[in-house]
Amino acid sequence: AKSVHQIQSGQVIVDLCSVAKELVENSLDAAATSIEVRFKNNGLDSIEVQDNGTGIAPTNYENIALKHYTSKLSNYDDLSSLQTFGFRGEAISSLCALSKLYITTAQADEAPKGKRLDFDTMGRLTSTTVVACQKGTTATVENLFEALPVRRKELAKNIKREYGKVLGLLHAYACICVNVKFTVKNAMPKAKSMTVFSTKANLTTRENIANVYGAKTLAALVPIDLDLDFQPTLTQMVRKDKPNTTIHVQGHISKPVYGEGRQTPDRQMFFVNGRPCGLPQIAKAINEVYKSFNVSQSPFIFADFQMDTGAYDVNVSPDKRTILLHDSAALIENLKTAL
Ligand code: ADP
Ligand code: MG
Repeated sequence: AKSVHQIQSGQVIVDLCSVAKELVENSLDAAATSIEVRFKNNGLDSIEVQDNGTGIAPTNYENIALKHYTSKLSNYDDLSSLQTFGFRGEAISSLCALSKLYITTAQADEAPKGKRLDFDTMGRLTSTTVVACQKGTTATVENLFEALPVRRKELAKNIKREYGKVLGLLHAYACICVNVKFTVKNAMPKAKSMTVFSTKANLTTRENIANVYGAKTLAALVPIDLDLDFQPTLTQMVRKDKPNTTIHVQGHISKPVYGEGRQTPDRQMFFVNGRPCGLPQIAKAINEVYKSFNVSQSPFIFADFQMDTGAYDVNVSPDKRTILLHDSAALIENLKTAL
């Protein structure tokens, strides 16, 4: 059972980015307004996410790391109208199977005391210790993939690239989550921890983009603000509550740059209802439009697709990062015309 669990967990947590994504999403789901992500040795030694959210109720301590436990689904109908992105109860359980995970947490009425929770590889609670703790939750993941030696070796070999990718993802969260103050730190062995970047709460996405990507990037951007028609498909029509068929796209895109340039796929950020995700069909369509302008550079894109939760499937990839839109052909045609 243990090795099956490890293999399945390796399909939920595929890389350093999945760890950051799952932990940050949990903090957002817990209504955090301040999130600090701390790496050690670019994440190879540890990655830790601290939030000031609701904390974990003591009655849930036993359950949170068990496979398929989630506090976010109250009944099956919730699945189609879910607002939170976490709902399958796999992340914490998978991280226990693949690495050393521990959590410290306090709800408002417990702070400044809280509990440190330790778990075994099957996610069973092994100890509960009273510790000093502000309101909120800190999840620490040490030695990612230590249970899968080949994967661990790969991670160590590619850690610089993986770390770069995870920073890209954290930039995206930091820019879109305007209510949340983000701080990202890294400590290399035998060196002091350094702040990699930080944002403040309650600025606009434009101000966040300027802070994270620089004023020069911002200056090249034009706002996107589009309402796109979206044809309901069979899957949607069988639903009793036919969803809204307009998608609102809001964000920023760089003006076409003529002449010398380089590809910048790391600067194309897509969101669905405010959560970062891959939208490969949309990315391809936009890049094709820019190519047809005969420009050498693909654009900087920061675009949030706001839509009814019935219009997409977060279930297509186990790590929930790639999202398929039901019937995206019509949407893509409309987007191309709008561009
Ligand atoms: P899911 O997010 O799909 O529910 P997870 O494995 O990511 O599953 O988390 C399991 C449970 O642990 C959550 O449902 C939630 O109750 C609790 N939890 C995890 N992280 C946090 C956090 N940062 N703040 C509050 N509760 C958390
Ligand atoms: Mg989760």
